[in-house]
Amino acid sequence: MTPDEYRSAVARTANVELPKHPPRLRVWNWYAGLAGELGELNAQMRVAMHTSATDREERIIEEAGDVLWYAVALCSEVGAMVPELHPYPVVSRGDWADLGVLAEHLKKWSFHGRDLDPERITALVGKITRAALYRASTVVDATVAEIMAANVAKLKARHPSGFSTAYMEADHG
Ligand SMILES: [Mg+2]
Repeated sequence: MTPDEYRSAVARTANVELPKHPPRLRVWNWYAGLAGELGELNAQMRVAMHTSATDREERIIEEAGDVLWYAVALCSEVGAMVPELHPYPVVSRGDWADLGVLAEHLKKWSFHGRDLDPERITALVGKITRAALYRASTVVDATVAEIMAANVAKLKARHPSGFSTAYMEADHG
């Protein structure tokens, strides 16, 4: 799966109701999703550290894919280029701390009247996603393309005809 194909797949499974909300809410929605999925990835990594890593590989690939999904969705929302997603082996450790720097940037836009800087957002999201991929790569042996493909397969099963709230209404959201 190429990055372009993945971007199209993300657009297909984004919440079509979201454009009804103000831009600020939409952006914070994607940010919250990104932060939440990083937490879910870390939770799986923590389990893998204390148990047999092999039985956690599928969940780690799933959560890394969720991180990528929100990274692409956030960049698309603000008109920022999607960062280059490095193939394995991931040599850059990225930086988790940039999640906080990104929040600060969005806060200044949201509440202080500053402009969004799409290039800065691309750079920050790039460092955050590389941190996630690097961390995942310490346990799983999957390429970024394979992580994207697994993410798209999950979303296709969840939203076979494009985004649907049925999944969330079934209390899985
Ligand atoms: Mg998840």
